[in-house]
Amino acid sequence: MEEEGTVALQNRAPIDLALLRRPGVFHFFGTKELTDTASLFQKLTRPKASITVRQVHGDQVCRITDDVLPSLSDGHVPGASMTGDALMTDRPDVLIMVSTADCVPVLLFDPVAGVVAAVHAGWRGTLLNICSKVVREMGFHYGTEPKNLIAGIGPSIGPCCYQVEEDVFGEVVRSYPYGHEVVVQQDNGKAMLHLGWLNRFQLEEVGLLPENIAAAGRCTFCSPDDFYSYRRDKKKVGGMLNGIMLVS
Ligand SMILES: [Zn+2]
Repeated sequence: MEEEGTVALQNRAPIDLALLRRPGVFHFFGTKELTDTASLFQKLTRPKASITVRQVHGDQVCRITDDVLPSLSDGHVPGASMTGDALMTDRPDVLIMVSTADCVPVLLFDPVAGVVAAVHAGWRGTLLNICSKVVREMGFHYGTEPKNLIAGIGPSIGPCCYQVEEDVFGEVVRSYPYGHEVVVQQDNGKAMLHLGWLNRFQLEEVGLLPENIAAAGRCTFCSPDDFYSYRRDKKKVGGMLNGIMLVS
């Protein structure tokens, strides 16, 4: 499986994917240089609003509507105001973001219906198949057809570094026909898990076209200069922001 090359906007600046670099949408995957909204506003185009939510490793999808936007204070909805692990909107110039540090950030763009989504998929969210839920909800609320969706999978802990116990990889292997393709079992009873590919296969299973999915192919654990890693840094880390926005 090919991983699309990434283009760093500048050294340690946000990463973007060529597949998602197209008219009508703006996106980025954060690095250590982009950890809070203040720096975001300085470095990137100014959105009308930017929104994060309080992430809880579940599969709740927050729909950002005009009803939500008036509650904005100075252009940013505080994270505590909503709980969930994915956001979606059809509102232009509204930047929706998820925070990650090893977990998989997935950004989705439907150029036909005019909808974007940002997903935070750690192992818990991935085992809840949060990506498939987001695609279904985009279909329900906005008429999104999976074959039209463009998906970008950002930097996350890679199979080089992500050792998991049987409770995790066993469920992956039992739950998905492609489970064995993302799990490399080891002699010690543990396994290395490719969480990014698991999200990719989940997206394909709900109807996304393989050629419409790109991955950064970067491991957060392997690159301490560029990324925070929850596992490597022993939980003493900030999250990196990843965002997507429809451009009016
Ligand atoms: Zn690694």
